[in-house]
Amino acid sequence: MNSTTETQNNKIAFFSTQSYDKTFFKRYIPDFNIDITFLESQLNSKTVNLIKDETIVCVFVNDIVNAAVIELLAKKNIKIIALRCAGFNNVDLEAAKKNNIKVCRVPAYSPHAVAEHAMAMILTLDRKTHKAYNRVREQNFSLNGLLGFDLYGKTVGIIGTGNIGKVFAKIVKGFGCKILAFDVIIDSELENEGVVYTALDTIFKQADIISLHCPLNTNTKHLINKETLALMKDSVMIINTSRGALINTSDVIEALKTIKVGYLGIDVYEQEEKLFFKDHSGDIIQDDEIQRLMSFPNVLVTAHQAFFTNEALTQIALTTLGNIESLLLKDSIDNKLALLA
Ligand code: NAD
Repeated sequence: MNSTTETQNNKIAFFSTQSYDKTFFKRYIPDFNIDITFLESQLNSKTVNLIKDETIVCVFVNDIVNAAVIELLAKKNIKIIALRCAGFNNVDLEAAKKNNIKVCRVPAYSPHAVAEHAMAMILTLDRKTHKAYNRVREQNFSLNGLLGFDLYGKTVGIIGTGNIGKVFAKIVKGFGCKILAFDVIIDSELENEGVVYTALDTIFKQADIISLHCPLNTNTKHLINKETLALMKDSVMIINTSRGALINTSDVIEALKTIKVGYLGIDVYEQEEKLFFKDHSGDIIQDDEIQRLMSFPNVLVTAHQAFFTNEALTQIALTTLGNIESLLLKDSIDNKLALLA
């Protein structure tokens, strides 16, 4: 037994718990020798104190796992940070390594869930089914204002063709679109299926629809900004199901005002950690940018729900519990993509 496992138990402090997390994780807990304390609080420097004798924390996309929090986790004797998501931009991996804390994630649960949601956003913005739904319920059967466009023949730019971007490319291909792609790694299978890898600028200049599927990191932060927006076709559609900070929000608001951006679908938002996953219906929202975004008729905001399917939640629970069990038993995980530090 190594030094990591000598001092750890099988107890997990599970942060940012939602009712559906409990449903899916509780379903599989009996299959694993693991004990979970479900906490509603987001993990941050203040809520670290909620950890009692647990040696594992389980976190989600908006938990704060920066260097300062990791130092506090180390003092609490935390040995494993288990992300129950794919993206890991909220975790300081160097700080985790320095403090001898293992970090694992769910590298792929259902790329279909997110890719299909991206397509749902495109179709909603294009064909305005959300407006039609409300309109006919009020016995207004007029079509004025619902004019859409054929997806067939349009150029779709995909930035990031990993698990999700690849599935999305195949969905888009089914609609008869021309596909341009940019990724730091070229997928030859997609190339053979007719996807054209090109420079980012070419995508910005030629695409009618741009969908973001790359991770958030120092290279991709504010990929969509004043300069890149200026290159785009007038009335371009931008879809972001990846991470909010890929888009400079104030720049995209300006571009929406001039109709440079004709449609914006975002499942993620730069400042989402203060808003998403909670009911704020009785509150005065202090974030003026999200309020401005939601005031545009051609903007669709969903609250980080792209992953939210039965299949994805099942896989998230099974993989997260499997990752933890594997780290407890053998201090490693067979799927190398799951172990980040
Ligand atoms: P992935 O790792 O399989 O694919 C990411 C792709 O992006 C890779 O092919 C990688 O080479 C590419 N990439 C890296 N840097 C790039 C750059 N600078 N420019 C262009 N491409 C670059 O990840 P995935 O499973 O496809 O997930 C993609 C992103 O989707 C995640 O990082 C996460 O942020 C987001 N996500 C969102 C939800 C949701 O519910 N909205 C759910 C899961 C994942």
